Formats: sequence, C-alpha cells, structure tokens
Amino acid sequence: MRFSDIIGNRTVAEAMVSMADSGRVAHAVLLYENEGCGALPLALAYLQYLNCEHRSGGDSCGQCPSCRQMEKLIHPDVHFVFPVNKGPKTTDDKPTSESYVKYWRELALADPYFSEADLQKAIGIESKNGLIAVAEAKSIINKLSLAPVYDGYKAVIFYLPEKMNQETANRLLKMVEEPPQKTLFLFITHAPEKVLQTIFSRCQNIRVMPLTKEEQQLVKARRPVVEDDDANQFMELFFDLMNAVTSRDLMGALECGESIAALDSREKQKAFCNFAADCIRKIFMLQQNLQQIADISEEEFAFYADMAAKCPKGFCVKTIANIEKVVSMIDRNVSSKILFCDLVNRMFMNI
Ligand SMILES: [Zn+2]
Repeated sequence: MRFSDIIGNRTVAEAMVSMADSGRVAHAVLLYENEGCGALPLALAYLQYLNCEHRSGGDSCGQCPSCRQMEKLIHPDVHFVFPVNKGPKTTDDKPTSESYVKYWRELALADPYFSEADLQKAIGIESKNGLIAVAEAKSIINKLSLAPVYDGYKAVIFYLPEKMNQETANRLLKMVEEPPQKTLFLFITHAPEKVLQTIFSRCQNIRVMPLTKEEQQLVKARRPVVEDDDANQFMELFFDLMNAVTSRDLMGALECGESIAALDSREKQKAFCNFAADCIRKIFMLQQNLQQIADISEEEFAFYADMAAKCPKGFCVKTIANIEKVVSMIDRNVSSKILFCDLVNRMFMNI
C-alpha cells in the first residue's frame, strides 16, 4: 500500500510522512478511526514508507523487495494482531492471530477498508466475540524478540486493542514501554475509551478523519462485493422505527425492536446500532443548524428534516447513549430481544 493509494485523510498521511522523514518515529501510535475510514491502509502505507529502500516524493517506491513484500502483506518483520476466537477454520485450541493470518491477508488484500464484521466472517467466527487473549501476547513477544530479517523497522499492527484483556495488556506493557530497537506498535481502534489506559497513555494518538461522501463512494467502488443489502435493510428498519416512535405507536415500535433483535448475528445487530447512531447524529446536526456537515443525501433530506422537527431537545443525545449501552451489552451476551425492546421503550419515553 502506497500513500497514493489512500482515499482521503491527506493530512494524516502527510503527518506520517514527515514523522518518518524527520527520523522521530514514535514507537507506539494509536490510530483512532470510525470503522471503515482507512486506518489500516494508512498504517500499511506508513510501514511500507518507513521500510522502503527508495522513498521519493513522500511515498514508497512500491518496487523494492521490502515494498513488494508489504504489498502482499508477507513482510517478515511486520506482524498482525486482531481479535480471534475458536472456530471451524482452525484446529488450534488457543487460537491466535497467527492461526487465521491467511484469512486476514486475503481479506485485507481484497479490501483494506473492511469492517470488524467482515473480519469475523472471514475468519469464520461470526457468532462469537473476537478477543485478544494472553496467548497472543506471548506470540508477539516471541516474534519481536527475533532479529529482524531486513535492516528496517519491525512492527506489529494491532487491530482493535480494545478487545484485549488486562492480562494480555500486562504482558505486553513492558514491550510497548521499552520496545527493542526499531520496533513499532501501531494500534488501530474504533473505541479509544475502551483501550486500557496503561496502553493508551503510552501511545502517540492520531485521529483518522471520517471520509466525505465522495471518498466513501470511492471506497465502495473498490470493494469486491457490494454490501448495499445491509445498508438498505438497516435504513428500512430505522425509518420504520423512527416513524413508529414519533407517531406514538408503541406496538409498531416494539415490532421494529423485535425485527432488529432478529438480525442474524450479533455483529449485524451491532452494525445496525452503529448505523442507527449515525442516523440520529444526522438528526442532531439538523437540530443544531449544522446541515452543511450532516452528510445527508438529497433523497433522505425530507425524512431527516421531519425527524429533526419531531424529536424533542435531548432525544438524540440520550438515544445515542442508550444505543452505545446496547452495543456493549451485546458484547456481554445479554438477550438481544430484551436489549432492543428496552431501547425502543426508552426512545418512546424520551420522545
Ligand atoms: Zn520501496
């Protein structure tokens, strides 16, 4: 991945280039993105640039041996850590990212803007929660203790450190604090508030900005499979739910809650929650007269304007907080039927 392949986020790319050029390379960086905004491509382009033998014009060459291996995600000094669990695609009893790295590569090569749900699907653990367990820490410490194959930087791209438990963090902490020479940790998070403080406080933070509508279209156009089905289904559910809630139709609203709870995996239920929270933010933006940054398409504008007029002050903020609670409870295996009926009820009471 070269910086020129990145969609959007020029400022972040430029900051990374100047960090590399200056030689003042932070050994632990935390990239915070909203899902799908390109933190992984940025991390890959950054490492490729750092290790490139013929950098020029603020980008890697794409041709040298290091670049070629980075392009295939098989650079021997670059490792990947991501949340895993037991599943049909590995026989390992205590699986680590290594157990699934083949599927990770296939996914990231096909679409580096993949979502957490895409990853779960790719490694065959859709119905489980991915975790970064202590076996992972041991594996990483072993890998980083080996001498590098090339003369450049060794690195770990750590996808979703918020899925790491305390024990794993404790094991890794020393290495993150005092890494071996020319060793980098690049953490990619969607929820910085959930990253353990001990790790968070040792990182240089970089905010990967949300993509514009046009940039999102570019990302979509590059995707191998079009995923409009989910978005359409989610929009319909959200539309029905908000109409039921604002017209004080409790039965109708509860039926929507049941339909959401019936989405066929926890990841999909969480994806709906994120989608709904984004939609409610749009209503909030309109209520704040911030239409220019609300990112609402022409065909959906009438719906959002109607909702902005009907939802009382405070509704959006409370509902987003309630949706976030639901997401964390889904992770704790609470019955989704109860969660979504409760959510709908609260929306109903707050309207
Ligand atoms: Zn190169």
